[in-house]
Amino acid sequence: MAKRDYYDVLGVNRNASADEIKKSYRKLAMQYHPDRNPGDKEAEEKFKEAAEAYEVLGDADKRLRYNQLGHEGLRGTDFRHYTDVNDIFSAFGDIFGGGFGGSIFDEMFGGGQTRGRQRSGGPAPGSDLKVRLKLSLEEISSGVEKKLKIKKWKHCDTCNGTGAKSSHGTTTCPVCKGSGEVRQVSRSVFGQFVNISTCQQCGGEGRVVKEPCQACAGEGRIQGEATIKVSIPAGVSEGNYIPLRGEGNVGRRGGPAGDIIVVIEEEPHAAFTRNGDDVILDLLISYPEAALGADVEVPTLTGRAKLKIEPGTQSGRILRMRDKGIPHLNSFGRGDELVRINVWVPTSLTSQEKELLKKLGASENISPKEGDTSAHSEKSFFGKVKKAFS
Ligand SMILES: [Zn+2]
Ligand SMILES: [Zn+2]
Repeated sequence: MAKRDYYDVLGVNRNASADEIKKSYRKLAMQYHPDRNPGDKEAEEKFKEAAEAYEVLGDADKRLRYNQLGHEGLRGTDFRHYTDVNDIFSAFGDIFGGGFGGSIFDEMFGGGQTRGRQRSGGPAPGSDLKVRLKLSLEEISSGVEKKLKIKKWKHCDTCNGTGAKSSHGTTTCPVCKGSGEVRQVSRSVFGQFVNISTCQQCGGEGRVVKEPCQACAGEGRIQGEATIKVSIPAGVSEGNYIPLRGEGNVGRRGGPAGDIIVVIEEEPHAAFTRNGDDVILDLLISYPEAALGADVEVPTLTGRAKLKIEPGTQSGRILRMRDKGIPHLNSFGRGDELVRINVWVPTSLTSQEKELLKKLGASENISPKEGDTSAHSEKSFFGKVKKAFS
């Protein structure tokens, strides 16, 4: 398949400034990132295509050659061939402010420190660990500190992470001569590609162990368990994630630790349904309460609260309790509690109750007349909330 024009790929015109190119690429990368499009091959291709376009247009020299000669102008360039999404982020760490988890975090939580994942030779960093954390709506509402027990690779103290039995136990890798990378040049009609891959012999470390440490069998790390504290700010939602930098698996032989990514899951609540930062409560009231009005007690996320039912409240009516919802994440204020009134129809009645109801049913103001409306006259408001029930 012929390569698309890089300017088209990034959706910028040929005079675009470096800044515009960067911005546009960042947007596309966010949009097509595989984390956001799990299992979507097309998105992944778009993601890689954008990365390649940015590598050329984001580099003044390559861009000039591309402008003059098109794809042909890049023949013979030391062109990275991306096989892995993480490669792209390590190559463009600068514009994402480090690891991608970091930038997602920034977007969601409006800030936070990030850590670069750039690597060039040396021991490979350990992998990230994904941990799912179930929270109740009450916990989400108040914010909570949780302790997580996690199985992970930890530093081997016996060899101090080197993996070698003694301080002379390692030697420079004979395959990559210590660089940790193996370069393979391949030619195609589009030019020459240099495929850079991690050295299989040393796993990218540049050094190999001659005499392995017995405690860790040369790994420089051992399987263990750790208890980690995580503070969850109030107002998080399902799918939000919180990276804990450097708390993940320790890398082999002195490689830095990866991160723990805590993914938030919301436990279904017995009484409330969440709708953004509002919570919705279905409340059953009796027919006399609806007709005559009543003061009732309703549950809220912070305990029980009083609610006034006005006389003549119709079934389906939604009463708003201000500021009884979930706090807005990283800003002031909180959502509301929306109480949807449901008038209870009794299902088992004594003969005396039946008699009373029959009498009541025959009296003047009990049955609806033509032209009467119920709570659904509040259409605009109900329309907004309805979505949450469907
Ligand atoms: Zn060891
Ligand atoms: Zn090697």
